[in-house]
Amino acid sequence: MCFLIYILWVINMSNGEIVQITKVYNSKILQEDVKLLKERYPFLEVENIGYSVLGKSIPYIVWGKGNKEIMFSASIHSNEWITTLVLMKFIEWLSYTYKQKNDRYELYKLEDIFNNRKIFFVPMVNPDGVDLLNNGLTQEQINNMYDLSKKYPNIPFPNGWKANFNGVDLNLQFPANWERAKEVKFAQGFTVPGPRDFVGKGPLTEPESLALYNFTLNHDFERIVAYHTQGQVIYYKYLDMLPPDTLKIAREMSRLSGYALEETLYASSFAGYKDWFIQQYNRPGFTIEAGLGENPLPISQFNQIYKENFGIIMTAINY
Ligand SMILES: [Zn+2]
Repeated sequence: MCFLIYILWVINMSNGEIVQITKVYNSKILQEDVKLLKERYPFLEVENIGYSVLGKSIPYIVWGKGNKEIMFSASIHSNEWITTLVLMKFIEWLSYTYKQKNDRYELYKLEDIFNNRKIFFVPMVNPDGVDLLNNGLTQEQINNMYDLSKKYPNIPFPNGWKANFNGVDLNLQFPANWERAKEVKFAQGFTVPGPRDFVGKGPLTEPESLALYNFTLNHDFERIVAYHTQGQVIYYKYLDMLPPDTLKIAREMSRLSGYALEETLYASSFAGYKDWFIQQYNRPGFTIEAGLGENPLPISQFNQIYKENFGIIMTAINY
């Protein structure tokens, strides 16, 4: 009897969705989901780009076996972790639909895309930071971060935390005018490690940023999309650099999502991953600020955010 129930459960699970929309999505759940996706969809490749300060794996998932490489990243900022779920849900949809050979999605010609593209997803660049918000750390680890946050009493803890375990903002670590970023952020009062906006002692001092940097250098990405929340805007330039095709892609993303196109504010246009990518390769790089509200965005926004961003992701893949 027990055995029968077990079999029925397995059958049920094999038809159910793996990625569940939960408000405590942390690095442990991510690892389990990645493993289950790989089991169900063996054509996925799974590896990691490196490890966090606390030694947690930063996984990536590859869909497709073509030559044209495209990369998506999410949750480089802790309290923007809903973006991890956007990528994970999308990977599951893409894999499921491809496996079904379902011609309802003929529009996107997934077979062609699979053969011509190689799509890399790094769904959680900052696992330690996400785990702070989502029940993934020990009390001692939380206390360490709380001590850092005391220097910034006006930033709520832990909900205002964007940085990694060391209190460094991982998206202010890239060698694209890092010195300028330091000047700007120091002038704003972010001079020591804390919940956000501290640039670190130099570029690429943090293992998560360094891993993303090396991962990028070791590939040949035609374009990258970096997921953040919030604002419903698409950033697509670095200073006055506008790589070929960028504007066309950005306009299509904007049309499909309703998100506004924005040139990056001068004061925040340094040392980000997208900034460095554009500077390094002169290829399209986008920062998507998904959703609207105060970070962390409530999980109740997920369906809306996913709907808005589906077209953005497909445009980045398909263009
Ligand atoms: Zn962000």
